[in-house]
Amino acid sequence: MGKGFVQEVTAMEDDFAQWYTDVVKKADLVDYSSVRGSMIIRPYGYAIWENIKNELDHRIKETGHENVYMPLFIPESMLQREKDHIEGFAPEVAWVTHGGDEELTERLCVRPTSEILFCEHYKNIIHSYRDLPKLYNQWANVVRWEKTTRPFLRTLEFLWQEGHTCHVDAEDAKEETTRMLNVYADLCENILAIPVLKGQKTEKEKFAGADFTYTIESLMHDGKALQSGTSHYLGDGFARAFGIQYSDQNGEQQFVHQTSWGLTTRIIGAMIMVHGDNRGLVIPPKIAPTQLMIVPIAQHKEGVLDFAYDLKEKLSSIARVGIDASDKKPGWKFNEYEMKGIPLRLEVGPKDIEKEQVVLVRRDTGEKVFIPLNELDTTITKLLAEIQNNLYRKAVKLREKRTSVALSFEEFEDKLENHGGFIKAMWCGETSCEEQIKEKTSATSRCIPFEQESLSDQCVCCGEKAKEMVYWAKAY
Ligand SMILES: [Zn+2]
Repeated sequence: MGKGFVQEVTAMEDDFAQWYTDVVKKADLVDYSSVRGSMIIRPYGYAIWENIKNELDHRIKETGHENVYMPLFIPESMLQREKDHIEGFAPEVAWVTHGGDEELTERLCVRPTSEILFCEHYKNIIHSYRDLPKLYNQWANVVRWEKTTRPFLRTLEFLWQEGHTCHVDAEDAKEETTRMLNVYADLCENILAIPVLKGQKTEKEKFAGADFTYTIESLMHDGKALQSGTSHYLGDGFARAFGIQYSDQNGEQQFVHQTSWGLTTRIIGAMIMVHGDNRGLVIPPKIAPTQLMIVPIAQHKEGVLDFAYDLKEKLSSIARVGIDASDKKPGWKFNEYEMKGIPLRLEVGPKDIEKEQVVLVRRDTGEKVFIPLNELDTTITKLLAEIQNNLYRKAVKLREKRTSVALSFEEFEDKLENHGGFIKAMWCGETSCEEQIKEKTSATSRCIPFEQESLSDQCVCCGEKAKEMVYWAKAY
């Protein structure tokens, strides 16, 4: 590691926000565009998204869903039908008022989410109990006119998938809400190596128009939380507003019960902030576009490049392998692929070829090992699995280290200020207490975890009888 290189990235301990900005830029994940708050996702960033998308799409289909595509625009009149929903989104909606030179007779909203578009469609295609359940998902972009923006975490336009489903009754729809939350948790923990807390949002924090919202919450390296995926039970509110009815087995008209759930490019921000370090990105092997990068040493010497290319071809059956045979110096290449977070680096030069060995370097620990050629396949497979597990374990440890209990308001403030991370505290269930906590500490309720603990019988804010334990944190 050249010292000069490390100085290019701000140390995360000094300025985490700047570290993040440096990494997304220097790892070549994004570029800024001419519209404030919009980002260009560069090929390397997009390759990561494609891998996440493939993993998730597979799981969405495996649980019985079909992909569809809805239009980008929503007529204003249609938007007004579900009151809570529009109130929740109105401040960040972008409007189309003109088509060419002509002013439109009705404004069109650029979808901030597509509940309404799906509802309008469901009204037309659902008639009988035989049409249910309807399990649709779309991969799309949406637009929310955010005031402050940061690459991946908050941008005017972002990519996501949104599932929208209709069911015969509440029970079936609630099951779906849980099922999809578990799909997100599985993706985060087993593919992205990000441990998550599963729970329910409070009334204040739930999705506009939902009966309830389930969420998975993760903890970033700086001790802030990030909502990583949400699954909403919509009840029959949208169905009533849009008239989505079916005739049941007795020929009676019933309203459907609905769900919606989404996961966005934000999750890339989570991956960066959970695993990254002062050398740049650290990408979990299961999601890494390149899992192993071959760097030939003294490649001008006879036989080295042939040997390296030959290795690439052989290893491609067990891993996603890249090779950098450019005329840049090996030191530059080492830095570059550490910055890009590639899990393993393979170095091979004339001496190694002579000894029938190569050098493998782990991105997560920096550990360097010499491996005989005949053990290379098994070692790479083993190391990739080890790195994946190690990243998850490290993230779990970090979360444990930065989770504390607060029994009083003073303790809450103190822990949050000096310790950061998640605070577990009892809550009476009143929104006024939640608001007070937010106002005084800027921490928000992250979730009412499914796994409850009884820390005390008093609300941490008002001292009245506590109803449940809540995870609180400052959040992105
Ligand atoms: Zn209270």
